Amino acid sequence: MAGEPQADCLFCKIVAGEVPATIVRETETTVAFRDINPQAPTHVLVIPKAHYPNAAELAAAEPKVIADILSESREVAADDQIEETGYRVVFNTGSGAGQTVFHAHLHVLGGRGLQWPPG
Ligand code: 5GP
Repeated sequence: MAGEPQADCLFCKIVAGEVPATIVRETETTVAFRDINPQAPTHVLVIPKAHYPNAAELAAAEPKVIADILSESREVAADDQIEETGYRVVFNTGSGAGQTVFHAHLHVLGGRGLQWPPG
């Protein structure tokens, strides 16, 4: 069923506490944890607790949770004090855009200068 945990999903396992992660924030609907391979001094992933394969499917099924994720990204930026220097939030959607884990996640990147456009 849509949103149900998937046995073979890494991020569902992080939500369940079955795979360790450095969790920095948690709400009723979201978890935020540090990326295992950080691309910037702050690199946090904000994910829905419910399983959706990408942001588009999450937005279609549970738009409020997309708002929760964006709201949490703001808190992550405040906690890591990267608001003043600027930060980037990204949902890679589909393998052609670089998505490798098919449980929706928002990257929060900051703490260094960021180039545009991305690769
Ligand atoms: P994507 O490429 O799908 O947009 O992003 C997936 C992210 O998940 C990557 O930045 C990758 O480093 C991160 N990642 C993959 N496996 C793990 C893990 O086991 N723990 C954590 N904390 N991050 C992971």
